[in-house]
Amino acid sequence: MSIKEYFVSIFKGFHSLLKGMAVTGKELVTPKVTEQYPENRAELHIPERFRATLEFIYDDNGYHKCIACGSCERNCPNQTISITKRMVELPDGKKKQKLDKYIYDLGSCTFCGLCVQVCPTNAIRFSNDFEQAVFTREKLVKQLNYLPEKDDAPAPAPAAKPAAPKPATEKPAAPAADETKQEPQENKEQ
Ligand code: SF4
Ligand code: SF4
Repeated sequence: MSIKEYFVSIFKGFHSLLKGMAVTGKELVTPKVTEQYPENRAELHIPERFRATLEFIYDDNGYHKCIACGSCERNCPNQTISITKRMVELPDGKKKQKLDKYIYDLGSCTFCGLCVQVCPTNAIRFSNDFEQAVFTREKLVKQLNYLPEKDDAPAPAPAAKPAAPKPATEKPAAPAADETKQEPQENKEQ
C-alpha cells in the first residue's frame, strides 16, 4: 500500500464514522414515539380491518347465522377450522342440519380471510382485538359458538293458507227428472 492509499483509507473510515454519528445524533433529538403499553390501552387505536381473531356474529337475541354448510372449513388452507354438525327434528317432522361445535385454532390461522369471504350467510368476521397472547398453544383453540343454541325456541308456525275463493255465481240447479219427462206431454195437449 502506498502512502497515498493509506491516507485515503483513513479519510474514508473517518467519513463513514461521521455519517453514522450524524444519523445517531438526529435520532437523539427526534421526539420519542414509544408506546407506553399497556398503560395506554384506553387510548390505543387499532384499525378496524386489522385481523386479530375469527369470531361469530351474534344478533341482539343471541342468534348466529351459521348454517353449518362447512364452506369455510373446506376453503381454509390450514385446516384451522373444524366443524361438527348434528341433525335436529323440526316440529313438522322434517330433519334439519345444525351446528354443534365450531372450533377455530388461532395458532394455525394465517389470517388470509378466505373463510369470511366464502361464508354464504356472513356468519363470521375478524375481530381487531389484538390481545390474544396466552401461555399454551392449547388455549389458542377456541369454540366460536360459545352461546347456547336455542333449539328449544318454538319454531315459527307456518302461515295459514288463505281459503279458496267461492265462485261468483252459482249454477242453476238442474231440473228434476220428472219435470223433463212431463214437458212433451204438455206440448201434445196444445
Ligand atoms: S383466515 Fe385463512 S387460515 Fe385463518 S381460518 Fe380463515 S381461511 Fe383458515
Ligand atoms: S361460518 Fe359460514 S361458511 Fe362456515 S359453516 Fe357457518 S355458514 Fe358455512
